[in-house]
Amino acid sequence: MGKAFDVGIDVLAGGSTAGTAPARASDMEPAMQGSGDSAGAAKSFYIETFGCQMNAHDSERVAGVLLARGYRAATTAAEADLMLYNTCSIREKAAQKVFSRLGEYRYAPKGKVIGVLGCLAQQEGEEIFERAPWVSLVCGSASYRKLPELVEQLESGGRRVMGLDLDTDETFETEITRRDNPFRAYLTIIEGCNYACSYCVVPHTRGPERSRHSDAVLSEARRLAEAGYKEIQLLGQTVNSYRDPSARGLNFAALLREVAAIDGIRRVRFTTSHPNDFTREIVEAIDDTPELCEHIHLPVQSGSTPILRAMRRTYTREEYLQKISWLRGARKDFSLTTDVIVGFPGETEADFEETITLLDTVGYDGVFSFMYSPRPNTSASSLVGAVPEEGKKRRLAILQERQRQIQLCRNETLIGREFEVLVDSHHAARGQWAGRTASNRVVNFVSERENLLGEFVFVKVTRAGPNSLVGEQIS
Ligand code: SAM
Ligand code: SF4
Repeated sequence: MGKAFDVGIDVLAGGSTAGTAPARASDMEPAMQGSGDSAGAAKSFYIETFGCQMNAHDSERVAGVLLARGYRAATTAAEADLMLYNTCSIREKAAQKVFSRLGEYRYAPKGKVIGVLGCLAQQEGEEIFERAPWVSLVCGSASYRKLPELVEQLESGGRRVMGLDLDTDETFETEITRRDNPFRAYLTIIEGCNYACSYCVVPHTRGPERSRHSDAVLSEARRLAEAGYKEIQLLGQTVNSYRDPSARGLNFAALLREVAAIDGIRRVRFTTSHPNDFTREIVEAIDDTPELCEHIHLPVQSGSTPILRAMRRTYTREEYLQKISWLRGARKDFSLTTDVIVGFPGETEADFEETITLLDTVGYDGVFSFMYSPRPNTSASSLVGAVPEEGKKRRLAILQERQRQIQLCRNETLIGREFEVLVDSHHAARGQWAGRTASNRVVNFVSERENLLGEFVFVKVTRAGPNSLVGEQIS
């Protein structure tokens, strides 16, 4: 490889959300210009990330932009010259958390630059400067391609610098991406969202859907394979709506097959799929291709068709279940996970019961469940029929308990089975290794071998809990 494309965890200076140390000095651009630093002392950065995997990977790419400008990683937020918050505003609590964290920097030392990135930056815009006047940079994800210019403005003394352009058909391409996870590399293939779910801020904070050119995606995947990654996770808010803008015009299933065919890549995953764009062709591609993992995250949000309509999800309960039947009829034994919102305005006990029966019918291996949170600029926030907080909490608790039982039953059926596991962590105190199966199940196991991190091993399942499996290494 020529220039640093990927910077692995072995060179990280700090924690998982920390700034990053350069991979090799020769990979980096000269130290930042016009910083006013003493000669040779590069300014440092630290990024704290809130929210989803898309945000986590955006932070990795932003770190790449800064590394390319000669910044170095700080090991702690306190010592960083440039402190960036990559924010989430999907639920109100997430947004409040960011403002309370920003409050801690009210008396930041002179010269320390504070920036707000991501969904809250886009949603609140200039308002952030009013609420937190010590902030100097506000930039939404649809403007990240302008980050080098914005950083330059800061370097030459800019006090209030903004990137809030949403109306774009461009994607964020970076020469360097700093990756935190040495075993699984995230790779964004589509940005923004063209759906208009009535509860969701994403189309307002991430802008319209933009697919990356398949050449760019495939060459990044090839470089990841060369850098030693065995597993790639393709990302997008609606990853399966992917449509290659180049002349090749690949759809998502065709792109999956091409990524999986790259030498060295053993596993390909993707998230998040929208049920509306989930096709039989995707199931066939996974069934035909050993490298494509048999796990689908297919957010349903509700089991009640009237609530799905009010949410503007563009499918009915029956249409969703039909897609589940394709997966259950596949040759591979798919694991399925989903997202559910309880307490959407107008949700009756009968609607909620439909969600519970859907959990039973599908038999999910995991559910991310949320209480509905009204968000600014969303049409659901003006709907009548709000469910009281106590009612939402009760429904959430019922749903989570039912799902816990479902997971336990499903996992118990796996006792005695053997799975190939990619080992990604070690609990020294417990003498246990942990990793994931192709179906994304977590397996803890014991082994007599010394260093298994990053290895594929076979494990026989001996015990099962609701959230993970326990086993013994067999080879
Ligand atoms: N694009 C994905 C999809 O279409 O399902 C989901 C993206 S969103 C970042 C992740 C999850 O947050 C959603 O699936 C939904 O369950 C939840 N969510 C989004 N807006 C919410 C809101 N206003 N209140 C509660 N949960 C919400
Ligand atoms: Fe939000 Fe709906 Fe788009 Fe998912 S599909 S990001 S829930 S608007």
